[in-house]
Amino acid sequence: MKHRKIISLPNPLLRQKSEKVHVITPEILQIIDNMTVVALEWENSRPHEISAAIAAPQIGYLNKIIMVRSDLEDKNIQDFTTLINPEIIKLEGKVTKDYEGCLSVPNVYGKVPRHDKARIKAMDINGNEIRLKAEGFLARVLQHEIDHINGIVFIDHIRNKEDAFYELDKEGELQPLDYERYVKNNSILWD
Ligand SMILES: [Zn+2]
Repeated sequence: MKHRKIISLPNPLLRQKSEKVHVITPEILQIIDNMTVVALEWENSRPHEISAAIAAPQIGYLNKIIMVRSDLEDKNIQDFTTLINPEIIKLEGKVTKDYEGCLSVPNVYGKVPRHDKARIKAMDINGNEIRLKAEGFLARVLQHEIDHINGIVFIDHIRNKEDAFYELDKEGELQPLDYERYVKNNSILWD
């Protein structure tokens, strides 16, 4: 399989809707395997960030597959939980803004409003239906990843100047982004 790299904006695949997975074929399992490899490679190249989650379109496959780190706090635990055809059943709780980043929007963070609680329906890799009730950071991560399979990137939710954008300094602290420098270093642009 050729796609074993993160794609980033402005790659048009990131703006397309993914297809539902009907049968968990060996190819689907291979995509899942590649997603894990790519997520961990990305993390290993960055001292201050964790690969919290990844969606199949981010490595170039338009399939409704996402995976979320089993432990979002501890980098040493490198397992992911795979969710196939994940859907938001209900969004609940307060809407709060917090920083988000994305493997496909390198080195840039912004504050995104999300619901505090989300109920999700999905299928596991054995084809069994699962239902999840997520809160806090996990609810945020799931909303971010489900956006990816619908062709939405976190920057699409940012409307206010004070929410955009930030970058990590050498110590891993978020600082307001130097846009000129960012464009020069990353050769990506959005409108
Ligand atoms: Zn993302």
